[in-house]
Amino acid sequence: MTSETIPLPGTLYVVATPIGNLADITYRAVAILAEVQLIATEDTRHSMRLLQHYGIKTPCIALHDHNERQRTPKLIERLERGDAIALISDAGTPLISDPGFGLVKTARERGLPVVPVPGPSAVLAALSVAGIPVDRFCFEGFLPAKSGARRKRLQELNSESRTLVFYESPHRITAALQQMKTVFGGERRGVVARELTKTFETIHSDSLENLLLWIAADDNQRRGEFVLLVEGAQKQATTREPAAEASRVAEILSLELPPGQAAALAAKITGEKKSRLYRHLLGQNRRADTGSLDEKDQ
Ligand code: SAM
Repeated sequence: MTSETIPLPGTLYVVATPIGNLADITYRAVAILAEVQLIATEDTRHSMRLLQHYGIKTPCIALHDHNERQRTPKLIERLERGDAIALISDAGTPLISDPGFGLVKTARERGLPVVPVPGPSAVLAALSVAGIPVDRFCFEGFLPAKSGARRKRLQELNSESRTLVFYESPHRITAALQQMKTVFGGERRGVVARELTKTFETIHSDSLENLLLWIAADDNQRRGEFVLLVEGAQKQATTREPAAEASRVAEILSLELPPGQAAALAAKITGEKKSRLYRHLLGQNRRADTGSLDEKDQ
């Protein structure tokens, strides 16, 4: 064992573990997990499979969202007494849509060393194979569970030009894609990265419209774990064009109201910029006028 794999006393190691394939773990992670005095894990029973696979017999303690506040002082006490502790989650990198933030924050505030042992994370695995621009991306984690809050969040993200990355559960994947299509428009490209590193790994890219059709057509594609990636908004397009849904609301309102009022009301409802909606409605009227002229000319 090298000095890099022997845990230092009083140190909190934040250790990444596999997101499916048990072989996806670093030598250093295995050594640290085997040598620390304690492993704090999201679910002790879940982690047992990994630990047994690598013959690791280190004692474990549960640290999850419901007990993190109460457990953190005890873990800090042990670190201050000189124990080395590893933090792991059910899969991937702790704190990435997983527990551990309170412990890491407190340890750092107390001046205790907190050391990363990097490895898998579904967000990076998905980005690395997506085939859409990943030089800049925006990790959104899980969208809100309730439909209204989810739509609002998507509307806020509509003009984001970086690639968007979401975690999604199987029972909400279709609804999420449907709302993304409505808010971002069906032509925007997306990637579904399903069951990464596992037997049924699937990476499928297409327009949001086609992704929705594809996933709705096959039950099997709605099973398992998902990362959803959506290409960022085209800069030019977003400065000119309002969100698809906001335009639709404005258009409906403009059937009854003058363009200024329709744009103002649609902006209030959707969060889109009033000026963009106003320009959109004027553009529509112009197209309609031209259309009727053309017809008359014929
Ligand atoms: N800490 C983990 C990480 O670093 O990726 C994420 C934990 S979060 C509670 C679990 C979510 O991550 C899943 O619902 C799914 O969206 C995504 N995820 C985890 N493993 C995955 C996999 N093998 N394939 C696709 N998505 C995965």
